[in-house]
Amino acid sequence: DTIGENLDRTVAAYGDRDALVDRATGRRWTYRELSAEVDAVAQGLLALGVGKGDRVGIWAPNCAEWVFVQYATAKIGAVLVNINPAYRVHELKYVLDQAGVRVLVSAPSFKTSDYAAMIAEVNPACDVVFIGQQSWAEIVADRDPLPAIALSPDDPINIQYTSGTTGFPKGATLSHHNILNNGYFVGELCSYTEQDRVCVPVPFYHCFGMVMGNLAATSHGACIVIPAPGFDPKATLSAVAEERCTSLYGVPTMFIAMLAEVEGLDLSSLRTGIMAGSPCPEEVMKQVIDRLGMTEVTICYGMTETSPVSTQTRADDVLDLRVSTVGRVHPHLEVKVVDPETGLTVPRGEPGEFCTRGYSVMLGYWDEPGKTAEVIDSARWMHTGDLAVMTDDGYLKITGRIKDMVIRGGENIYPREVEEFLYTHPDILDAQVIGVPDERYGEELMVWVRMREGAVPLDADAVRQFCTGKLAHYKIPRYVHVVDEFPMTVTGKVRKVEMRKVAADLLG
Ligand code: ATP
Ligand code: MG
Repeated sequence: DTIGENLDRTVAAYGDRDALVDRATGRRWTYRELSAEVDAVAQGLLALGVGKGDRVGIWAPNCAEWVFVQYATAKIGAVLVNINPAYRVHELKYVLDQAGVRVLVSAPSFKTSDYAAMIAEVNPACDVVFIGQQSWAEIVADRDPLPAIALSPDDPINIQYTSGTTGFPKGATLSHHNILNNGYFVGELCSYTEQDRVCVPVPFYHCFGMVMGNLAATSHGACIVIPAPGFDPKATLSAVAEERCTSLYGVPTMFIAMLAEVEGLDLSSLRTGIMAGSPCPEEVMKQVIDRLGMTEVTICYGMTETSPVSTQTRADDVLDLRVSTVGRVHPHLEVKVVDPETGLTVPRGEPGEFCTRGYSVMLGYWDEPGKTAEVIDSARWMHTGDLAVMTDDGYLKITGRIKDMVIRGGENIYPREVEEFLYTHPDILDAQVIGVPDERYGEELMVWVRMREGAVPLDADAVRQFCTGKLAHYKIPRYVHVVDEFPMTVTGKVRKVEMRKVAADLLG
């Protein structure tokens, strides 16, 4: 199926059921109504001269129109280019040029950022359509039936930029086949049916929102609930309570923020959900199960380049594995863990680079065959740059990114392991470990900590005391830096590259 065919199938089966709720405006759509909006936007794009393969950019926070544009572009075979709502002039210009965007859909303003002014500054050589304004009214005005357009599931329909956690974002080119299947299987593993209501506070511009959220929901007839344009923990939990959501998504830091706001809310409708995007601390997972009542919550691991999910925990896995691993391989995919040097599969239980192969692997980085060849080998294995360990039973633990591994005096240290231990400290809310240059050992460990409210800030001695006897001596952080916030990407990932820069300045 193409994404459009799949949506039509859902409309035929569940036309009168809720498809979408946009809490910011209070509007809601059934599947039949959603389908009409999608077709109207598709007509509008065709009228603007958008044809198969043309790029349509979307630069807007989460809103219903984002969803209309997502499905409308897929229906006419245009390539949706997801643009991070936090981008500013320089990055916007880069993406518009790099992807050759022909029509840009945007929102005139969002909180303090005036997108219209920034677009005027870039002065792009493409049509601009503003949601909520005259140009938007024009693209949705025409409601003729859509003409037949010959599409193949293998056509490129989406360029998603990676989070830019480790450097400049790369544009992963994805097909219907890539992302529709991935969304469908994510929905299967969450046991979605038309009874489910999925609260999506994660950004649509990222695969977590548009694939694991929107496509997982619509391929199962479930309803998408957009709690707010940007992430707001209170608004998200109110949406869950008032809309009786059965599923809730977030990266670990979002769940940490939401756990502080549960008081007084009826969240009893929650059954499942997904935590993903960066290492998921066991402590946080346990609280999500106990305090949010998400008894079937799963962890997904993946990356933009693989549509994104490669592994997922199952609701019936034993509790220990559900909170401490990223689960087992997804349906119809292959995974292996290899020695990054030799490329040979390492024995179970030993760390190596996580590789995956199958329908989910992207077509390539947009217009960058050189970069594509660096990550996809001749046998179509995607080399993720993440370190993992596979247990005898096929469960995977992600130990960190190859780039973040610290080598101190010849010992490999996986920051994740030290972070997990520090999470058990009662006063620590969040901990992130990096390596900093050291003359004697090559690298030394530095930990950045966020303290719980009211707790006395920890210093290096206190951390040493807490770790001594419990962690090997070389894994005990030498430096401790207390912060209010970590440098983050919009997708909620800690930017360790940025932390290392700041640390270098701190240590002078
Ligand atoms: P860039 O590639 O631009 O540096 P990025 O890799 O963060 O940014 P994404 O594609 O959004 O961009 O994120 C994929 C990465 O997120 C994975 O390679 C992995 O490092 C991390 N990740 C995702 N899910 C998990 C998880 N459940 N546990 C640990 N790490 C995860
Ligand atoms: Mg990456």
